[in-house]
Amino acid sequence: MRVLIVEDDPLVGDGVRRALNGGGFAADLVSSAEAAKSALDTDSFDLVIADIGLPRQDGLQFVRALRNRGQAVPVLILTARDGLEDRVTALDLGADDYLSKPFQVPELLARCRALIRRANSVANPKITFGDLELDTTRKSATAAGKMLELSQREWAILECLILNAGHIVSKSRLMSTIADWSEDLTLNAVEVYVSRVRAKLGGAAVISTVRGMGYRIDEPRK
Ligand code: CA
Repeated sequence: MRVLIVEDDPLVGDGVRRALNGGGFAADLVSSAEAAKSALDTDSFDLVIADIGLPRQDGLQFVRALRNRGQAVPVLILTARDGLEDRVTALDLGADDYLSKPFQVPELLARCRALIRRANSVANPKITFGDLELDTTRKSATAAGKMLELSQREWAILECLILNAGHIVSKSRLMSTIADWSEDLTLNAVEVYVSRVRAKLGGAAVISTVRGMGYRIDEPRK
């Protein structure tokens, strides 16, 4: 899962990014609403975290502009502790949640996970798919009750495929879920990760390659 952070204070922004990396998210940081909009035009993100205090266009104007453009990506707004009015306005303008600064990392991560679950219409943090069980809070998976040893990127690939089960997921979509801008990843590397996941799943689920389009996960035929 990949998060876009919009924060002009480099210390806070970098802290949030490191917290997200520690929680298993790929994360990119931009320092203005304008930069965030162009990032969202070119890359796919599962969540946006935007500070309310930004230069020129603030976080509230940013949310309004995003929703006016029909972009449905979930948005978490960071506000000041005493910013009741800002929080109400942010939610009314189309933000999905808010967090007051300063905040604790576990709460930030839990809110990110909850927002992404909701955006994917998954109410339960545990997802069952055939013989597979994914715990999206612990980021662990079992196949027929047996724990799968997955790296962070392998986990992210499996989670993305399962959340889109039965549909084709493009290679570039998978790439954006596992790597941020600082990582030089090729589409070939995505193939390598997918084949590792496929091997680790054994027969618990089937990942098909759809030539020229991407991958699709299905339950095995009984
Ligand atoms: Ca700021």
